[in-house]
Amino acid sequence: MSSNDSLNRVFNFSAGPAMLPLEVLEASARALIDFQGKGFGIAECSHRGKEFDGVIDEAIVRCKALLGVGDTHEVLFLQGGASQLFNTIPMNFANGKSADYLVSGEWSKKAAGGAKEVGTTANIVASSEATNFDHHPEASSWKLNPDAAYFHICSNETVHGNRIVDLPTHPNLIVDASSEFMSRPHPVNSMALIYGGAQKNLGPSGLVLAMARKDFLATIPEKGIPKIFNFKAQAEAKSMINTPPTFSIYILLETFRWLERQGGLAKMEQINAAKAKLIYDAIDGSGGYYSSTVKIASQRSHMNVTYRLPSEEKTDEFIKQAAKQKMVALKGYRTVGGIRASIYNAMPIEGCQALASFMKDFAAKNG
Ligand code: PMP
Repeated sequence: MSSNDSLNRVFNFSAGPAMLPLEVLEASARALIDFQGKGFGIAECSHRGKEFDGVIDEAIVRCKALLGVGDTHEVLFLQGGASQLFNTIPMNFANGKSADYLVSGEWSKKAAGGAKEVGTTANIVASSEATNFDHHPEASSWKLNPDAAYFHICSNETVHGNRIVDLPTHPNLIVDASSEFMSRPHPVNSMALIYGGAQKNLGPSGLVLAMARKDFLATIPEKGIPKIFNFKAQAEAKSMINTPPTFSIYILLETFRWLERQGGLAKMEQINAAKAKLIYDAIDGSGGYYSSTVKIASQRSHMNVTYRLPSEEKTDEFIKQAAKQKMVALKGYRTVGGIRASIYNAMPIEGCQALASFMKDFAAKNG
């Protein structure tokens, strides 16, 4: 963490907006001031000019290369956050039918709510809400409707800390991958749509990265969806129906370059598994002092590690003392309580080592 040290950067466990790789921030900051020696920054030139055109073209190529996706899918850069897609997905793809939703946490529940808001019947195929989303329902319990327009899942629940390791197969599978996007390979080729808010693993908030299968886009009705919300129209306009968030897309490009330098997504998956194991080992080895909020160990997230201490007082003390050791933003979501350590791609393994070792010390002194 030498360059981090000189900048006084801490280990930031925020769930999002979250830590980004320092190299990405530095390269983006340079491009913000002066893009390729042109005397203007990347946020100061037209989205219709050759400079930004080069940026978005390169971002699309690198995004597809990282995910191993060919000509079957379009890459989209959308606005309004992933929450906007909770509405625009049913607007575009329900086609008057119902849609299937697996409800395994706060975010998939909100996605199903978004469908209802725009008049689509959301069929909840299974829900683990009764046990405060301490797991995701097993596939054998899902009641899928064969006539549904699509099947929506959230592969990593940011608030509740559970994840779906092996994604289901479904002809029209839609995946909210916001909090694990590009933390591992995603089988995009077998998906109709994958999307995620950028602010966890990829870049700044407000920008959504999506990849949509072309034949799925072709099912969007010709009329009735405002152009600005229409996924097909956005694909045809290379995500530039209006002025896109050019600087945010630039940061994404730098993240894609960085991911390639790390060795790609399979490599990231290994690194992230090793990082998460350090913290889960500290939980499991604490003799019950720390308890995971996810009851099925194989479903525990590699991105958002959620756990509790014996009391709220101890939790507050834990957060206070951790901050003194440069580990910040560890407070769990209000409905879950406890601790949430978000350890996205940019969190170095040293951050997880520091947290695991702090956990051991804290339990020994406060048991
Ligand atoms: N889905 C998931 C899994 C999320 O974690 C979040 C944000 N935390 C969202 C959707 C909503 O994203 P946004 O705030 O960008 O609308």
